[in-house]
Amino acid sequence: MSHYALFLGCTIPARFPFMEKSIRMVLSELRVQTTDLAGTTCCPTKSIAKVIGNDQWYVTAARNLALAEAAGVDILTPCNGCFSSLKAVVTDLNMNLHLRKSVNQELAKLGLEYTGAITVKHLVQVLFDEVSAAEIKKRIVKPLTGMKIAVHYGCHMVRPSSAIHFDDPNRPTKFDRLVEATGAESVDYTTKMMCCGNDLNTADEPDVAIAMSREKLLETQKIADAMTMVCPACFSQYDSKQYLMQKSGEHIDMPVVYLTELIGLAFGFSPEEMGMNMHRVDTGQFLEKWEQRTSYLEKVRQNFDLDMLDRCHQCGACMDDCPVVKINPDFDPNWLIGEILNGNMEDVLSGPDVWRCVSCYTCYELCPQKFGMNKVFETLKHLAFTMDITPEGMGGGIKMLLETGRLGEPTAMRKKLKLPDLPESGSDDLKKLLHTDKESESE
Ligand code: SF4
Ligand code: SF4
Ligand code: SF4
Repeated sequence: MSHYALFLGCTIPARFPFMEKSIRMVLSELRVQTTDLAGTTCCPTKSIAKVIGNDQWYVTAARNLALAEAAGVDILTPCNGCFSSLKAVVTDLNMNLHLRKSVNQELAKLGLEYTGAITVKHLVQVLFDEVSAAEIKKRIVKPLTGMKIAVHYGCHMVRPSSAIHFDDPNRPTKFDRLVEATGAESVDYTTKMMCCGNDLNTADEPDVAIAMSREKLLETQKIADAMTMVCPACFSQYDSKQYLMQKSGEHIDMPVVYLTELIGLAFGFSPEEMGMNMHRVDTGQFLEKWEQRTSYLEKVRQNFDLDMLDRCHQCGACMDDCPVVKINPDFDPNWLIGEILNGNMEDVLSGPDVWRCVSCYTCYELCPQKFGMNKVFETLKHLAFTMDITPEGMGGGIKMLLETGRLGEPTAMRKKLKLPDLPESGSDDLKKLLHTDKESESE
């Protein structure tokens, strides 16, 4: 694993130190080594420094790059703005040797030089391309299973693609895969690639900036439990500005969670130690829902292989071959499995579907994973029985089996056919084994 200069930028240490805390905790847990580089300045942000002048923009960025080169480390930044600025300057300096020469003439006054020996990486890039989602998954102790997360990429994580070359600039997926590594679901939504509008604040148009954030918040709060992002400017738009909207009476309530906070929670770090109580928009509701989901799924896990249940739910391949589904369109095993995963086990157990599976094993025989939905129904039937929920016919059969050891008593027809008497039933022994006789009940 490489060693990086951690380039936090200006906003994270100044306004959002809780982000820095979770970044450091998660990187350390994943054994990504970082150094704090002395002497750096603002990346610099394009929206301000380019106004001062193009040359000034290049020299300011190149100075930061030269410091990392002198320290012999690549740059890792958890800020979209810094990433976009530094990557754009690296690309230009590497392509335009005339530009590099003139920038280096300035840097020489400080005894520095940019040679193009280092790379600049976004936090998401390091986590996805170097650490890998699989490695993150391995360390998870408290998955975010069942939580729906709306990923906000932020324009400058993936654009301009001519300089960044990290993910598809219009349909990126790497950030989503990292969120899914925590066990959460990354939901799709129409305003996903829409800009947060932060730069409009510096154009003295805060109302328009807020309007851009509002659009995404309104959409995501209908479909997700939280939004996540990896940029302090975007965070400010969705957290601080949302707080202002709430204060002015708007009905918006969307917890906003930085990526490393999400991963940190799944790693078992507490929200308090990561400083999550320092967000402007309360994350309590999100955390509470997650706790409830976790304890519910713990109970489900006692009876089902959760990963397999989830895979079966995603698959649904054998559904149309189930003979009961063919005859009764009300029977939908895939929906029922989804209901279990979604926290509605009690409703499932008290409904009629549990008993509709006829144990024909068609699904098992067709299943490429040799799972079979019949397994789910067997477990559900048992759970319903332990809760005293059985259809009348099933209840009568169970009662008879437990009392007589058989599901039918011989009738006079046997005598007419001159069949021999049946040997004595083993029901008493069976009762002892099953603890349904009076003596064993009182033991
Ligand atoms: S992009 Fe913004 S937050 Fe990041 S370092 Fe530059 S000015 Fe600071
Ligand atoms: S075992 Fe049950 S769920 Fe599977 S195909 Fe047969 S009836 Fe359908
Ligand atoms: S039983 Fe097998 S084939 Fe059928 S939905 Fe589940 S995983 Fe897919």
